[in-house]
Amino acid sequence: MAEVKGKIGVTTENIFPVIKQFLYSDHEIFLRELVANAVDASEKMKALAASGDFKGELGELAVRVELDENDKTLKIIDNGIGMTSGEVDKYINQIAFSSAGEFLEKYKDQIGSIIGHFGLGFYSAFMVSKKVTIETLSWKEGSEAVRWSCDGSPEYELEPCEKADRGTVITLWLDDDSAEYASKSRISGLLSKYCKFMPVPVIFGKEQEWKEGKYVDTDKDNVINNVAPLWTRKPSELKEEDYMEFYRALYPGHEEPLFHIHLNVDYPFNLTGILYFPKIKDRMSVEKNKIQLYCNQMFVTDHVDNIVPDFLTLLHGVIDSPDIPLNVSRSYLQSDSNVKKISGYVTKKVAARLEEIFTSERKTYEEKWDNLKLFIEYGMLTNEEFCDKALKFALLKNVDGKYFSFDEYRTAVSGNQTDKDNKVVYLYATDKDAQYSFIEGAENKGYDVLLMDCELDAHYVNLLEQKLQDCRFCRVDSDSIDNLIPKEDRKRPELSESEKEDLGTLFKAALPAEYEYVVNGDNLGEDAEPILITQNEFMRRYRDMSSMGGGMNFYGSFPASYDITVNLENPLVARILDAKNANVKPQAEVTPADPEILKAGEAKDATEEQKKAAEDARAAEREARKAASDEHKSEIEEFAAGNEILHQITDLALLANGMLKGKALSEFIARSRKVVSDAYLK
Ligand code: ADP
Repeated sequence: MAEVKGKIGVTTENIFPVIKQFLYSDHEIFLRELVANAVDASEKMKALAASGDFKGELGELAVRVELDENDKTLKIIDNGIGMTSGEVDKYINQIAFSSAGEFLEKYKDQIGSIIGHFGLGFYSAFMVSKKVTIETLSWKEGSEAVRWSCDGSPEYELEPCEKADRGTVITLWLDDDSAEYASKSRISGLLSKYCKFMPVPVIFGKEQEWKEGKYVDTDKDNVINNVAPLWTRKPSELKEEDYMEFYRALYPGHEEPLFHIHLNVDYPFNLTGILYFPKIKDRMSVEKNKIQLYCNQMFVTDHVDNIVPDFLTLLHGVIDSPDIPLNVSRSYLQSDSNVKKISGYVTKKVAARLEEIFTSERKTYEEKWDNLKLFIEYGMLTNEEFCDKALKFALLKNVDGKYFSFDEYRTAVSGNQTDKDNKVVYLYATDKDAQYSFIEGAENKGYDVLLMDCELDAHYVNLLEQKLQDCRFCRVDSDSIDNLIPKEDRKRPELSESEKEDLGTLFKAALPAEYEYVVNGDNLGEDAEPILITQNEFMRRYRDMSSMGGGMNFYGSFPASYDITVNLENPLVARILDAKNANVKPQAEVTPADPEILKAGEAKDATEEQKKAAEDARAAEREARKAASDEHKSEIEEFAAGNEILHQITDLALLANGMLKGKALSEFIARSRKVVSDAYLK
């Protein structure tokens, strides 16, 4: 053939500057594109041989990457199908679409991912090169080798050349501003990032060995990839250890995962992969975006957000699908119907696998539950479809370390723990030590107490109340034990307003000033604790949720508020109240404002003077009441300050709740020592 000069078939003259400019952040993908083309050409050769269309010597198909650090040239060499000069013209010169420039302009933000899709893969070489040549010999009988070269302008040359072997050699003369790629370690890093699992051996240099104090090349080719990664193999051929080994190769230095799932579907879309459940102990140990996405064994990205539901991004592993439209923008991905189907499929598979382990390996499942529950709870909270499935295999754990499915638990507790409204009350603790005395109290009553100490539990408990019917979750310290699961409408002691107020003043005087309290009297029995400190379930839950984030900061800004239940039947309480009544006189009566004056001031024809007189009379009465109440209050407080029993019993209640600290604690210790001495030494 005669030498041909021509113009590359893009309509605008500036495709190369455009490519260079817009692909800036993604320059490194050029290597993936060129190696992928070489791999494709090799795979096609394999297919031709398999179908009998090619009858010659196939040889060992491989892709070689050769770097000359001095000359700053990089070669990608394959023995695939090669191209005839006609094909070079068709595939390389006539770029797949006519108005490339216009197109690039329109999609410049997404161009990095568009590139492979529209046949610009090869041209990405110009992001890093000042000159590129293709030397190629087609597999077709009687073909002549051709060399195509181009220096980055739209002009190219196409001429015959000497090339004995079938296949293609692409040579890049690296640009000065891309000199970073003229480094062995850089190229080797890129190859292992993008080409680690490509289906044809990719060779870069020689394997090395340690000899006489340094590494030297052996004569064995250094194959950088695993051509048959685990996910492409049949699950029936694989053992557990193979999956673990593959995990270690993917994530060196990571802790072993809990389980794996081998994904394999070919209809209505193609998808293979292996997902691993990592151990997740708390939010700190979550590693998102560890899933690697491949397209026919070619690495595409490790950002799978938008492709799988958010909770699944907590999993590790690989997904390989030629059907995910990888070369479009991420916002488009979300609405793509294939992506939706894939999301649904992966979610279903994950749920099915968990159910399978739950059913057939219950013991293992329970052993791993603590490291799995954050994942499952997060999935249930964020994905309705998963939630409905997980209701079958999610576990509840009680404070004694026993595990139950939701069904099992309901059966276990519904008799004893059903309240007067026919709701099953699920008691739970969030901290076994801090809530010890409440747990003990509940257990003494024959109740079971769950342990809900996961970070998401505040939200999770709300979700479960919606999903599990006729039940209510109640933290074990949220009320006195009799009120946690009320069996019938209990009569509370009737206190007058002023009695209630006095009770409040008295006990608040002995409680730490930094919290708010609602004080109530109740009859809990002679032997029961004199005072109980609890925290209302709903207030506390809202506070917990808002402190985790979730937009309910209104509650978060409230000071913690506690319910104080004073057991009026307890003899110590009775003693204190008697002493108070004996020492503090009732609140002084206040002479009410003269009704005549008030009446005159309210009359229709009242003069300004009469109105003012009535106003003054009312104000005087208000002030007198306030003065009387203040005086009464301060008398109670004074009494409280001097009452040792009061302090002793409130401190004991505080201590039981882990709320006694600092000065108050040391005062309590001193007082207790004295009480003990008085009791034993006198
Ligand atoms: P794409 O690979 O997306 O089709 P490219 O611009 O990378 O787009 O390549 C265009 C075409 O050039 C390929 O489809 C293939 O036919 C041909 N080609 C590129 N590289 C090679 C190669 N190493 N061997 C044989 N053919 C190749």
